[in-house]
Amino acid sequence: MTTHTIVLSLLILGLNFSTQAQNAHVNPWAPMELGALPPVASLTDGVWLKGELHLHSRHSKESSNNPISKILAFSKSVGIDYLCITDHDNHVDGDVEHNTWADPEFRSDSILLLYGAEWTTTRGHGNVFSARPYDHQRLYDVRDQRDVVVGAIVKELGIHLSANHPSGKDHFGYSYDMVKSIEVWNSAIWSKNANAIMIWDDMLSSGRKLTGRGGSDAHHGTPETPDKATKNSYQARANYVGTPTTWVFATKRTSQAVVDALTNGRVCVTANPFAPRVEFLADWDQDGKMDMMMGDNAKATGKPVRFRVQLTGNTNPDSAYTVNVIKNGNPFNTYTAKGKTPAVEFTDTPATIGRTYYRVEVQGPQTPYPQVPGSMALSGNMVGLSNPIYFNFDPNF
Ligand SMILES: [Zn+2]
Ligand SMILES: [Zn+2]
Repeated sequence: MTTHTIVLSLLILGLNFSTQAQNAHVNPWAPMELGALPPVASLTDGVWLKGELHLHSRHSKESSNNPISKILAFSKSVGIDYLCITDHDNHVDGDVEHNTWADPEFRSDSILLLYGAEWTTTRGHGNVFSARPYDHQRLYDVRDQRDVVVGAIVKELGIHLSANHPSGKDHFGYSYDMVKSIEVWNSAIWSKNANAIMIWDDMLSSGRKLTGRGGSDAHHGTPETPDKATKNSYQARANYVGTPTTWVFATKRTSQAVVDALTNGRVCVTANPFAPRVEFLADWDQDGKMDMMMGDNAKATGKPVRFRVQLTGNTNPDSAYTVNVIKNGNPFNTYTAKGKTPAVEFTDTPATIGRTYYRVEVQGPQTPYPQVPGSMALSGNMVGLSNPIYFNFDPNF
């Protein structure tokens, strides 16, 4: 061996060492292939229910002309299936149980009434949605503690906590690890939700399977007589029950099934109760029949997936709807849907390693909502949005 060869060998060895040293770091959190995922639930065994998830009655101090009986009668008249009255818990020192829930008017034969409240804290607002009464006082009492303490109480209570109007004043200033959904569409004023949508996409992109939902946050009802009017009475004509409307695909017509559907993300949001529902489906195995819907999560196979967006309900056959597809937080493509049953289809191949999600937003003409006529102009051309279809989202995240 010549000196030259030895030097060369040492050099190569040295190079190898440095390469190995760089590669020695293994990130235990790096995306890797997942094991089998739970099967997707039935696409047909269930019922679409429309509801309102953020609404204040007279038990909120700044609410006017809005007793529960009025809210229920109105909701019934516009076909609302489920409702959560979310009064400010701080207005009753956390005792929602002996105020909103104890109101003799808090009952309905036709509408599924969820138990909940708006958790109104220094660090922000969140709604609770529960099929049965729970100890809200405990959640109220813990509001100023560290997230780790709050999170433990949320878990113990077994409640679905949801982040409200997450940007701006009263944003949700807690960890998103303790919520199952986020209010991506607050009130009839669609345009003010841009930052909420941005936060949602950030949470989704980081691996959180977080349901997007709506809520009118209406505080004011229509006065019976002109002398009962307040300075905010005009709001009832522009923002009330169903602006926007949150649709859930529930396994049955029960409060628990509504909460479960919210948690699972089989949810879309539309400008009002009469707007066409946005349905987002996928044919995962390309056998020609749809086998996933929004909220569902499946393993990416490396083969292309066929997607379908359809509008169901009161569509205007002469109108064109714009369908914006968002993939992993970025614009993917824009399509036009028209005709009696507007629908579009597209194909894409989700990555086999790492997460992918797709969601859609639909713009077009507003379906009239004569009961809340001012809402149509406020919602602009926003018709509705879907929840994502997920690939490779780790259920143990
Ligand atoms: Zn609020
Ligand atoms: Zn509110």
